[in-house]
Amino acid sequence: MTEHLLKILVVGDGNVGKTSFVRRYVNGQFNSDYKMTVGVDFSVKVLHWSDKEKVRLQLWDIAGQERFISMTRIYYKGALGCVVMFDVTSSASFLSCRRWKQDLDNKAMLPNGDAIPCILLANKCDLTERVVSAESIGRFSEANGFITWMEISVKDNKNVGEAMRRLVEGIFLI
Ligand code: GDP
Repeated sequence: MTEHLLKILVVGDGNVGKTSFVRRYVNGQFNSDYKMTVGVDFSVKVLHWSDKEKVRLQLWDIAGQERFISMTRIYYKGALGCVVMFDVTSSASFLSCRRWKQDLDNKAMLPNGDAIPCILLANKCDLTERVVSAESIGRFSEANGFITWMEISVKDNKNVGEAMRRLVEGIFLI
């Protein structure tokens, strides 16, 4: 049995659902209490990828608050993939994804100097107060070099596991 260890970053503005996403993916839980992420949490999930391969995912949930951005280089070190998340009811959180992607492209390179694979996730698609259209997400994703994008709802458990699977596939270049 081969085991791959993958450090995955989860970035995006505060309140977009990063902590809930990691908790849902790792523990299968959703909790509606709002807790501001301070610094970084990391959680582990083991995927049985094939008969011969296991993938140990280390998920690093990075605080979205501007005041922490100077610390990102330390957290990016050794990362092989990234989730960039925004909230479809917040155009500001969508606009911030450009800055997050630029920051990653500048500071989170693979050992060969390439940018790390990033997936763009549009969270809270269960809400009706949506302000960011699928069309603008698709355009943005393509223009900014994301491997792909997906609409998710951590609350309704929609596309959470699928999104992580796509990212892992992107890392293995499947
Ligand atoms: P973080 O600051 O990015 O880590 O965001 P949190 O995980 O703390 O979530 C912020 C708020 O959004 C919390 O009140 C969550 O319950 C809520 N939330 C997270 N995901 C969803 C979702 O898919 N749908 C809805 N309606 N609310 C969500």
